[in-house]
Amino acid sequence: MQMSFDELLEIKTRLLINGVNAQINVPGTWKERTEHLYQHDSGEVPVFSYPQEIVLSPEAGVGQKTVVNVRYRRASPWKLIDRGGQPTLTGPSIGEIPVALAPRPNFYSRKLGTGVVVSQVVQMLGLDALGVIPNNYCAYFAERDECRFCEIEPSYREVGSYPSMRKSVDVISEGLRAALADDDAKHLVITAGNLKKNDRTATVYGDILGRVGFDSSRPVYRFGSLMAPESHERMEYMHRQGLDGVAYNLEFFREDQFTKLAPGKAKYGRKRLMEALEYARDTFGNGHVYTNLVYGVQSWEHSGKPIDFGKENAICLDAVEALLDAGILPLFTIYHTTGKNSMGRISIDEAAAIDFHREYGRLVAASGLVPSNRTGVLFNVSTISNHVYNDAFAAAFAASEQSGRSGPQSG
Ligand code: SF4
Repeated sequence: MQMSFDELLEIKTRLLINGVNAQINVPGTWKERTEHLYQHDSGEVPVFSYPQEIVLSPEAGVGQKTVVNVRYRRASPWKLIDRGGQPTLTGPSIGEIPVALAPRPNFYSRKLGTGVVVSQVVQMLGLDALGVIPNNYCAYFAERDECRFCEIEPSYREVGSYPSMRKSVDVISEGLRAALADDDAKHLVITAGNLKKNDRTATVYGDILGRVGFDSSRPVYRFGSLMAPESHERMEYMHRQGLDGVAYNLEFFREDQFTKLAPGKAKYGRKRLMEALEYARDTFGNGHVYTNLVYGVQSWEHSGKPIDFGKENAICLDAVEALLDAGILPLFTIYHTTGKNSMGRISIDEAAAIDFHREYGRLVAASGLVPSNRTGVLFNVSTISNHVYNDAFAAAFAASEQSGRSGPQSG
Protein backbone atom coordinates (compact mmCIF):
# COMPACT_ATOMS: atom_id res chain seq x y z
CA MET A 1 0.00 0.00 0.00
CA GLN A 2 1.32 3.45 -0.91
CA MET A 3 2.38 5.42 2.16
CA SER A 4 1.11 8.94 2.70
CA PHE A 5 3.48 11.92 2.53
CA ASP A 6 3.04 12.26 6.28
CA GLU A 7 4.12 8.66 6.94
CA LEU A 8 7.06 9.16 4.59
CA LEU A 9 8.04 12.36 6.42
CA GLU A 10 8.20 10.41 9.68
CA ILE A 11 10.24 7.50 8.30
CA LYS A 12 12.62 9.78 6.45
CA THR A 13 13.24 11.94 9.52
CA ARG A 14 14.06 8.84 11.59
CA LEU A 15 16.37 7.51 8.88
CA LEU A 16 18.29 10.78 8.66
CA ILE A 17 18.70 11.01 12.43
CA ASN A 18 19.61 7.35 12.99
CA GLY A 19 21.47 6.56 9.79
CA VAL A 20 21.19 3.26 7.94
CA ASN A 21 23.20 0.08 8.14
CA ALA A 22 23.54 -0.54 4.40
CA GLN A 23 24.77 -4.09 4.01
CA ILE A 24 27.53 -4.95 1.60
CA ASN A 25 25.42 -7.07 -0.76
CA VAL A 26 22.65 -4.57 -1.61
CA PRO A 27 21.31 -5.79 -4.98
CA GLY A 28 20.88 -3.73 -8.15
CA THR A 29 22.69 -1.14 -10.25
CA TRP A 30 22.55 1.88 -8.01
CA LYS A 31 24.20 5.24 -7.77
CA GLU A 32 27.14 4.79 -5.47
CA ARG A 33 27.84 7.17 -2.57
CA THR A 34 29.98 10.09 -3.75
CA GLU A 35 30.39 12.76 -1.12
CA HIS A 36 29.20 16.10 -2.41
CA LEU A 37 29.62 18.92 0.10
CA TYR A 38 29.61 17.35 3.54
CA GLN A 39 30.31 13.84 4.65
CA HIS A 40 27.08 12.11 5.61
CA ASP A 41 28.16 8.86 7.18
CA SER A 42 28.57 8.88 10.94
CA GLY A 43 32.35 9.10 10.67
CA GLU A 44 32.83 5.38 10.03
CA VAL A 45 33.79 5.76 6.33
CA PRO A 46 33.07 2.18 5.24
CA VAL A 47 35.55 0.74 2.75
CA PHE A 48 32.84 -0.77 0.54
CA SER A 49 30.58 1.12 -1.85
CA TYR A 50 26.95 1.65 -0.83
CA PRO A 51 23.91 3.33 -2.39
CA GLN A 52 23.56 7.10 -2.22
CA GLU A 53 19.78 7.18 -1.80
CA ILE A 54 16.82 4.95 -1.07
CA VAL A 55 13.57 5.62 -2.92
CA LEU A 56 10.93 5.06 -0.25
CA SER A 57 7.89 5.30 -2.53
CA PRO A 58 9.02 3.91 -5.90
CA GLU A 59 5.44 3.47 -7.08
CA ALA A 60 4.69 7.23 -6.86
CA GLY A 61 4.60 9.42 -9.96
CA VAL A 62 7.37 11.55 -11.47
CA GLY A 63 8.47 14.25 -9.03
CA GLN A 64 6.55 12.57 -6.19
CA LYS A 65 8.87 9.71 -5.23
CA THR A 66 10.31 10.28 -1.76
CA VAL A 67 14.09 9.86 -1.59
CA VAL A 68 16.28 9.56 1.50
CA ASN A 69 20.01 9.79 1.79
CA VAL A 70 21.82 6.73 3.13
CA ARG A 71 23.85 7.97 6.10
CA TYR A 72 25.89 4.90 6.78
CA ARG A 73 25.94 3.81 10.43
CA ARG A 74 26.65 0.23 11.34
CA ALA A 75 24.85 0.44 14.71
CA SER A 76 21.62 1.87 13.23
CA PRO A 77 18.41 -0.09 13.89
CA TRP A 78 17.49 0.67 10.26
CA LYS A 79 18.96 -1.74 7.72
CA LEU A 80 19.11 -1.87 3.96
CA ILE A 81 19.25 -5.54 3.02
CA ASP A 82 18.87 -7.99 0.15
CA ARG A 83 15.60 -9.95 0.23
CA GLY A 84 15.86 -12.36 -2.71
CA GLY A 85 17.21 -9.70 -5.06
CA GLN A 86 14.83 -7.00 -3.79
CA PRO A 87 16.39 -4.07 -1.89
CA THR A 88 14.49 -3.97 1.37
CA LEU A 89 14.41 -1.53 4.28
CA THR A 90 13.90 -2.88 7.77
CA GLY A 91 13.48 -0.86 10.90
CA PRO A 92 11.50 -0.01 14.00
CA SER A 93 7.78 0.48 13.32
CA ILE A 94 7.90 -0.56 9.65
CA GLY A 95 8.94 -4.21 9.75
CA GLU A 96 10.19 -4.68 6.20
CA ILE A 97 9.32 -2.65 3.14
CA PRO A 98 10.56 -3.16 -0.43
CA VAL A 99 12.33 -0.04 -1.71
CA ALA A 100 14.14 1.08 -4.83
CA LEU A 101 17.59 2.65 -5.02
CA ALA A 102 18.45 5.78 -6.94
CA PRO A 103 19.79 4.55 -10.29
CA ARG A 104 23.33 5.20 -11.47
CA PRO A 105 23.25 8.04 -14.03
CA ASN A 106 24.75 7.28 -17.45
CA PHE A 107 27.01 10.32 -17.20
CA TYR A 108 28.81 8.94 -14.12
CA SER A 109 31.09 6.85 -16.36
CA ARG A 110 31.89 9.57 -18.90
CA LYS A 111 35.25 11.32 -18.88
CA LEU A 112 36.23 14.93 -19.41
CA GLY A 113 38.99 15.97 -21.82
CA THR A 114 41.43 15.93 -18.90
CA GLY A 115 40.59 12.29 -18.17
CA VAL A 116 38.70 13.13 -14.98
CA VAL A 117 35.53 11.08 -14.54
CA VAL A 118 32.42 13.33 -14.70
CA SER A 119 31.03 12.04 -11.38
CA GLN A 120 34.06 13.57 -9.64
CA VAL A 121 32.86 16.99 -10.80
CA VAL A 122 29.07 16.71 -11.07
CA GLN A 123 26.86 14.50 -8.94
CA MET A 124 23.21 13.58 -9.34
CA LEU A 125 21.30 14.67 -6.22
CA GLY A 126 18.23 12.58 -5.63
CA LEU A 127 16.54 11.58 -8.88
CA ASP A 128 16.59 14.81 -10.84
CA ALA A 129 19.14 17.46 -9.82
CA LEU A 130 22.73 18.00 -10.87
CA GLY A 131 24.99 19.29 -8.11
CA VAL A 132 28.37 21.00 -8.44
CA ILE A 133 30.73 22.42 -5.83
CA PRO A 134 33.13 24.99 -7.30
CA ASN A 135 35.01 25.24 -4.01
CA ASN A 136 35.23 22.64 -1.23
CA TYR A 137 37.02 25.11 0.99
CA CYS A 138 35.64 28.06 2.90
CA ALA A 139 37.78 31.12 3.54
CA TYR A 140 36.27 31.38 7.03
CA PHE A 141 38.39 28.38 8.04
CA ALA A 142 41.55 30.40 7.37
CA GLU A 143 40.44 32.97 9.96
CA ARG A 144 38.96 30.32 12.29
CA ASP A 145 35.63 32.04 11.71
CA GLU A 146 33.87 29.03 10.24
CA CYS A 147 30.31 28.22 11.28
CA ARG A 148 30.76 25.94 14.25
CA PHE A 149 28.73 23.05 12.82
CA CYS A 150 30.56 23.11 9.49
CA GLU A 151 32.62 20.17 8.25
CA ILE A 152 33.25 21.24 4.66
CA GLU A 153 37.03 21.26 4.98
CA PRO A 154 37.56 18.10 7.07
CA SER A 155 34.98 16.29 4.90
CA TYR A 156 36.90 17.14 1.76
CA ARG A 157 40.16 16.01 3.30
CA GLU A 158 38.68 12.65 4.22
CA VAL A 159 36.38 11.78 1.34
CA GLY A 160 36.69 14.52 -1.34
CA SER A 161 36.05 13.21 -4.85
CA TYR A 162 38.04 15.75 -6.90
CA PRO A 163 41.85 16.08 -6.69
CA SER A 164 41.78 19.78 -5.66
CA MET A 165 39.46 21.75 -3.43
CA ARG A 166 38.74 24.27 -6.16
CA LYS A 167 37.48 23.43 -9.63
CA SER A 168 37.81 25.78 -12.57
CA VAL A 169 34.84 27.26 -14.41
CA ASP A 170 36.04 25.35 -17.51
CA VAL A 171 36.05 21.97 -15.74
CA ILE A 172 32.63 22.55 -14.17
CA SER A 173 30.99 23.76 -17.36
CA GLU A 174 32.43 20.82 -19.32
CA GLY A 175 31.18 18.45 -16.62
CA LEU A 176 27.72 20.00 -16.66
CA ARG A 177 27.45 19.78 -20.43
CA ALA A 178 28.38 16.09 -20.23
CA ALA A 179 25.77 15.50 -17.51
CA LEU A 180 23.08 17.50 -19.32
CA ALA A 181 23.46 15.21 -22.34
CA ASP A 182 21.20 12.84 -20.36
CA ASP A 183 17.69 14.12 -19.96
CA ASP A 184 17.12 13.15 -16.29
CA ALA A 185 18.15 16.45 -14.75
CA LYS A 186 15.42 18.97 -14.07
CA HIS A 187 17.38 21.11 -11.62
CA LEU A 188 20.89 22.35 -11.01
CA VAL A 189 22.35 23.13 -7.58
CA ILE A 190 25.56 25.13 -7.17
CA THR A 191 26.92 25.21 -3.61
CA ALA A 192 30.34 26.18 -2.34
CA GLY A 193 32.41 27.37 0.51
CA ASN A 194 33.21 31.07 0.40
CA LEU A 195 36.06 32.53 -1.57
CA LYS A 196 37.78 35.40 0.20
CA LYS A 197 35.38 37.90 -1.34
CA ASN A 198 31.71 36.93 -1.59
CA ASP A 199 31.43 38.99 -4.78
CA ARG A 200 34.03 36.70 -6.33
CA THR A 201 32.00 33.59 -5.41
CA ALA A 202 28.92 35.18 -7.02
CA THR A 203 30.95 35.98 -10.13
CA VAL A 204 32.10 32.36 -10.41
CA TYR A 205 28.49 31.14 -10.15
CA GLY A 206 27.39 33.55 -12.88
CA ASP A 207 30.37 32.65 -15.06
CA ILE A 208 29.58 28.92 -14.80
CA LEU A 209 25.99 29.49 -15.90
CA GLY A 210 27.08 31.66 -18.80
CA ARG A 211 29.71 29.13 -19.91
CA VAL A 212 27.41 26.07 -19.87
CA GLY A 213 25.04 27.54 -22.46
CA PHE A 214 21.67 26.08 -21.42
CA ASP A 215 19.24 24.95 -24.07
CA SER A 216 16.13 27.13 -23.70
CA SER A 217 13.88 24.29 -24.94
CA ARG A 218 14.99 22.14 -21.99
CA PRO A 219 13.92 23.77 -18.70
CA VAL A 220 16.42 23.28 -15.86
CA TYR A 221 15.78 25.23 -12.65
CA ARG A 222 19.13 26.72 -11.60
CA PHE A 223 19.69 27.31 -7.94
CA GLY A 224 22.71 28.65 -6.07
CA SER A 225 23.54 28.61 -2.39
CA LEU A 226 26.28 30.97 -1.28
CA MET A 227 27.10 33.68 1.19
CA ALA A 228 25.45 36.95 0.19
CA PRO A 229 27.64 39.02 -2.13
CA GLU A 230 29.05 42.31 -0.86
CA SER A 231 27.48 44.16 -3.76
CA HIS A 232 23.86 43.92 -4.84
CA GLU A 233 25.00 44.26 -8.42
CA ARG A 234 26.56 40.76 -8.21
CA MET A 235 23.11 39.33 -7.35
CA GLU A 236 21.78 40.90 -10.51
CA TYR A 237 24.72 39.47 -12.42
CA MET A 238 23.93 35.93 -11.27
CA HIS A 239 20.26 36.41 -12.16
CA ARG A 240 21.13 37.81 -15.61
CA GLN A 241 23.41 34.83 -16.20
CA GLY A 242 20.48 32.48 -15.64
CA LEU A 243 20.25 31.78 -11.91
CA ASP A 244 16.57 31.17 -11.05
CA GLY A 245 16.70 30.81 -7.27
CA VAL A 246 19.17 31.66 -4.55
CA ALA A 247 19.89 30.92 -0.87
CA TYR A 248 21.92 33.05 1.53
CA ASN A 249 22.01 31.03 4.69
CA LEU A 250 21.49 32.55 8.12
CA GLU A 251 22.08 29.15 9.79
CA PHE A 252 21.09 30.64 13.19
CA PHE A 253 18.00 32.76 13.64
CA ARG A 254 18.63 34.61 16.90
CA GLU A 255 21.24 37.33 16.77
CA ASP A 256 23.19 36.08 19.83
CA GLN A 257 23.38 32.53 18.48
CA PHE A 258 24.28 33.81 15.01
CA THR A 259 27.12 35.91 16.44
CA LYS A 260 28.42 33.11 18.64
CA LEU A 261 28.18 30.18 16.22
CA ALA A 262 28.59 31.80 12.79
CA PRO A 263 31.38 34.30 13.47
CA GLY A 264 32.44 34.73 9.85
CA LYS A 265 28.88 35.53 8.83
CA ALA A 266 28.55 37.81 11.84
CA LYS A 267 31.37 39.95 10.43
CA TYR A 268 29.23 40.47 7.33
CA GLY A 269 26.37 41.26 9.72
CA ARG A 270 23.00 39.67 10.36
CA LYS A 271 21.08 42.86 9.49
CA ARG A 272 23.02 43.17 6.25
CA LEU A 273 22.34 39.52 5.46
CA MET A 274 18.60 40.07 5.92
CA GLU A 275 18.80 43.13 3.65
CA ALA A 276 20.60 41.03 1.04
CA LEU A 277 17.83 38.41 1.25
CA GLU A 278 15.22 41.11 0.76
CA TYR A 279 17.10 42.53 -2.20
CA ALA A 280 17.33 39.02 -3.66
CA ARG A 281 13.58 38.53 -3.14
CA ASP A 282 12.95 41.65 -5.22
CA THR A 283 15.46 40.52 -7.85
CA PHE A 284 14.57 36.80 -8.16
CA GLY A 285 10.93 37.05 -7.15
CA ASN A 286 8.71 35.52 -4.47
CA GLY A 287 9.20 31.78 -4.05
CA HIS A 288 12.78 31.84 -5.32
CA VAL A 289 14.75 33.14 -2.34
CA TYR A 290 15.72 30.93 0.58
CA THR A 291 17.72 30.83 3.75
CA ASN A 292 18.88 27.71 5.55
CA LEU A 293 18.83 27.21 9.32
CA VAL A 294 20.17 24.30 11.34
CA TYR A 295 17.53 22.47 13.36
CA GLY A 296 18.71 21.17 16.74
CA VAL A 297 21.21 23.91 17.57
CA GLN A 298 19.19 27.13 17.58
CA SER A 299 19.07 26.82 21.38
CA TRP A 300 22.45 25.06 21.82
CA GLU A 301 24.43 26.42 24.77
CA HIS A 302 27.56 24.37 25.02
CA SER A 303 28.95 21.00 24.20
CA GLY A 304 27.47 18.22 26.33
CA LYS A 305 24.40 20.14 27.55
CA PRO A 306 21.22 18.45 26.24
CA ILE A 307 18.99 20.51 23.98
CA ASP A 308 15.61 21.61 25.31
CA PHE A 309 13.54 20.65 22.29
CA GLY A 310 10.48 22.59 23.45
CA LYS A 311 12.57 25.74 23.32
CA GLU A 312 14.27 24.64 20.11
CA ASN A 313 10.95 24.16 18.31
CA ALA A 314 9.64 27.50 19.56
CA ILE A 315 12.70 29.36 18.21
CA CYS A 316 12.52 27.52 14.91
CA LEU A 317 8.81 28.26 14.46
CA ASP A 318 9.40 31.95 15.27
CA ALA A 319 12.04 31.92 12.57
CA VAL A 320 9.69 30.32 10.05
CA GLU A 321 6.97 32.90 10.68
CA ALA A 322 9.33 35.87 10.54
CA LEU A 323 11.01 34.72 7.35
CA LEU A 324 7.76 33.88 5.57
CA ASP A 325 6.46 37.32 6.51
CA ALA A 326 9.51 38.78 4.78
CA GLY A 327 8.80 36.70 1.65
CA ILE A 328 11.78 34.41 2.23
CA LEU A 329 11.45 30.63 2.26
CA PRO A 330 13.17 29.01 5.24
CA LEU A 331 14.88 25.64 4.82
CA PHE A 332 16.08 23.46 7.68
CA THR A 333 18.98 21.06 7.93
CA ILE A 334 18.65 18.64 10.84
CA TYR A 335 21.96 18.88 12.69
CA HIS A 336 24.31 15.99 12.01
CA THR A 337 28.01 15.52 12.37
CA THR A 338 30.72 13.01 11.64
CA GLY A 339 32.45 14.28 14.77
CA LYS A 340 34.79 16.71 13.01
CA ASN A 341 33.29 20.07 13.99
CA SER A 342 33.65 21.96 17.24
CA MET A 343 30.03 21.46 18.39
CA GLY A 344 30.32 17.70 18.65
CA ARG A 345 27.62 15.09 18.72
CA ILE A 346 24.14 16.20 19.75
CA SER A 347 21.24 13.91 20.43
CA ILE A 348 18.25 14.96 18.29
CA ASP A 349 14.78 14.20 19.65
CA GLU A 350 13.09 12.39 16.75
CA ALA A 351 9.52 13.11 17.86
CA ALA A 352 10.28 16.81 18.35
CA ALA A 353 11.94 17.03 14.94
CA ILE A 354 8.88 15.43 13.31
CA ASP A 355 6.49 17.72 15.21
CA PHE A 356 8.48 20.77 14.20
CA HIS A 357 8.54 19.81 10.55
CA ARG A 358 4.82 19.09 10.49
CA GLU A 359 4.13 22.60 11.76
CA TYR A 360 6.76 24.03 9.42
CA GLY A 361 5.02 22.34 6.48
CA ARG A 362 1.66 23.81 7.49
CA LEU A 363 3.07 27.32 7.80
CA VAL A 364 4.92 27.20 4.49
CA ALA A 365 1.97 25.67 2.63
CA ALA A 366 -0.35 28.34 4.08
CA SER A 367 2.03 31.15 3.08
CA GLY A 368 1.31 30.65 -0.62
CA LEU A 369 4.96 31.44 -1.41
CA VAL A 370 5.79 28.11 -3.03
CA PRO A 371 5.03 28.04 -6.78
CA SER A 372 2.20 25.63 -7.56
CA ASN A 373 4.27 23.41 -9.87
CA ARG A 374 6.39 22.03 -7.01
CA THR A 375 5.85 19.14 -4.60
CA GLY A 376 8.49 20.66 -2.36
CA VAL A 377 9.65 24.00 -1.03
CA LEU A 378 12.81 23.70 -3.11
CA PHE A 379 12.42 21.53 -6.24
CA ASN A 380 10.37 18.46 -5.23
CA VAL A 381 10.33 15.44 -2.93
CA SER A 382 12.40 13.39 -5.40
CA THR A 383 15.29 15.82 -5.32
CA ILE A 384 16.37 16.59 -1.78
CA SER A 385 17.32 13.49 0.16
CA ASN A 386 19.24 15.08 3.07
CA HIS A 387 16.47 17.25 4.46
CA VAL A 388 12.77 16.85 5.15
CA TYR A 389 11.45 20.33 4.37
CA ASN A 390 10.04 19.18 1.03
CA ASP A 391 8.44 16.14 2.61
CA ALA A 392 6.90 18.29 5.33
CA PHE A 393 5.49 20.67 2.75
CA ALA A 394 4.10 17.82 0.64
CA ALA A 395 2.46 16.27 3.72
CA ALA A 396 0.85 19.57 4.69
CA PHE A 397 -0.32 20.23 1.17
CA ALA A 398 -1.78 16.74 0.83
CA ALA A 399 -3.70 17.32 4.06
CA SER A 400 -5.03 20.61 2.76
CA GLU A 401 -5.98 18.90 -0.51
CA GLN A 402 -8.07 16.42 1.45
CA SER A 403 -9.79 19.35 3.07
CA GLY A 404 -10.65 20.85 -0.31
CA ARG A 405 -7.58 22.75 -1.53
CA SER A 406 -5.42 21.65 -4.46
CA GLY A 407 -2.40 19.46 -3.67
CA PRO A 408 1.20 19.59 -4.85
CA GLN A 409 1.93 18.87 -8.50
CA SER A 410 4.93 17.10 -9.94
CA GLY A 411 7.62 19.47 -11.10
S1 SF4 B 1 29.82 29.79 5.30
FE1 SF4 B 1 29.78 28.53 7.15
S2 SF4 B 1 28.56 26.69 6.56
FE2 SF4 B 1 29.18 27.73 4.67
S3 SF4 B 1 31.06 26.70 4.05
FE3 SF4 B 1 31.66 28.50 5.25
S4 SF4 B 1 31.90 27.81 7.32
FE4 SF4 B 1 30.76 26.22 6.22
